[in-house]
Amino acid sequence: MKIELAKSAGFCFGVRRALEMVEKNIKLAKKPIRMYGYLVHNEEVVKKMAAKGIEVINSLENICQGTLIITAHGISPKIKEELAGRKELDLIDTTCPKVLKVHSLANRLREENRQVLIFGDSDHKEVLGIKGAADGKAVVFSSVEELKQVNIGKKIKYGLVAQTTKDFKEFKEAEKSARERADDIKIFNTICPASRERQSEARRLAKKHNVILVVGSRLSANTTRLYEICSKINPNAYFINTAKELKKEWFRGKASAGITAGASTPDWVIKEAVERVKKF
Ligand code: SF4
Repeated sequence: MKIELAKSAGFCFGVRRALEMVEKNIKLAKKPIRMYGYLVHNEEVVKKMAAKGIEVINSLENICQGTLIITAHGISPKIKEELAGRKELDLIDTTCPKVLKVHSLANRLREENRQVLIFGDSDHKEVLGIKGAADGKAVVFSSVEELKQVNIGKKIKYGLVAQTTKDFKEFKEAEKSARERADDIKIFNTICPASRERQSEARRLAKKHNVILVVGSRLSANTTRLYEICSKINPNAYFINTAKELKKEWFRGKASAGITAGASTPDWVIKEAVERVKKF
């Protein structure tokens, strides 16, 4: 069986940068060290962080001492400002520059008195941060169908941005639909290049091969997106967290397999999966 591994599989620039920032700063960091949510949505990386004494928290209440890591997904600028004012607390801010760019666009649109629309998953930390940058007044929709339910008034000015990991193809459909309904709308395609590259390669591999495997965490938005894209194209699409979940029968009688992985999947996890498939 032929195996093709996506060239784009694995850590993106933003995840690599975040991990390097934590590695660099953690030794001298004030204890306790806490992280608001997962640095990247990958259980394998989280386990390594826990071994370094980093505790994952889901609420910022009463976090006044030690060190707080802000993840690559970012947080609302107002909350960050408030945290920075807590005297005994140090911040390690690993927010991806691509996410900060969306914050600044959302803020600019708001300042222009535009109703901000965010194409994103409403409960995702990145989207909550973008919403915060737009004064909390943005409307979030996760699909073109959902956008149709949004009341678009002709006399209102709008601005559209996207969560960096949303499906580029769907964004184009949303853009078309929004342009048809709004008289005055500014649209910024903020899906990051790393996400677009991974999505287009996943599409290509899913079309080309008999089986397509997506490696990464189900908690990861960008990895889940890759699986959604692949499963729409190829009925033999499988989503695995690690090599342990692989099943020999998926590959029986198949001439070729494509393998891709999310922007938060570590290299060692991908390598293990590839090696296991090779043995089948
Ligand atoms: S997927 Fe894009 S926005 Fe998200 S961390 Fe990676 S480079 Fe940054």
